[in-house]
Amino acid sequence: MRSPSRSSPQLPSIELVIASTNMHKVREFRSIFKPFSRFDLLSLSDFPDYIPPEETENTFEGNAILKAVHAAKHLNRWVLADDSGLVVPAISGAPGVFSARYAGSDATDLENRKKLLDEMQHLLDEDRQAFYECSIAIASPDGLKKNVKGTCEGILLTQDRGSGGFGYDPLFIKHGYNKTFAELEESVKNRISHRRKALDKILLSIESLFSA
Ligand code: IMP
Repeated sequence: MRSPSRSSPQLPSIELVIASTNMHKVREFRSIFKPFSRFDLLSLSDFPDYIPPEETENTFEGNAILKAVHAAKHLNRWVLADDSGLVVPAISGAPGVFSARYAGSDATDLENRKKLLDEMQHLLDEDRQAFYECSIAIASPDGLKKNVKGTCEGILLTQDRGSGGFGYDPLFIKHGYNKTFAELEESVKNRISHRRKALDKILLSIESLFSA
């Protein structure tokens, strides 16, 4: 444990490893956790020797649990893992758990978006509905402690708009908005995203989780 955080001198800080090396995700988590100064967030970049497991499950929930439990056991620390992606019901739920590697194992975000647009070419406007899903699991070295999910519903454009965010953000407009996630301020996305919704649920019980 590191020394107690300055803003809550009476309480020891809590180290939590975010089981990701995706800097976009880690930045979003850091920003969402900012008001909770008690948490000292690390990421897998702080543990370069750790080899994460293959994501072999066919649900976001299964993969989040797999990643959290594996990392907590191997790093001997509390770990928060997320598994997330985009689901398009009109093309059988693709890209789903394959969101990060939709166009191949080393595919870039741009290549993944291009493949998605190709697969969706034949769809009517009303079938361009999609949602992001984020499953989050927290585990200690003893095993899984809690898991939750958050979703964010919207539609997909036929071409990129905006340069912020990552992944499928330049194509995704949340219902009730007229800008893509890549056009919105990062702070706005972080208030309304699937990741934020899932984290809000876990934050409700996080203090009791750690005090137990
Ligand atoms: P994971 O790292 O296995 O959870 O894969 C996440 C993948 O889902 C990312 O590489 C993106 O392609 C997609 N994804 C998840 N969350 C977001 C988001 O907030 N914006 C854009 N794409 C996302």
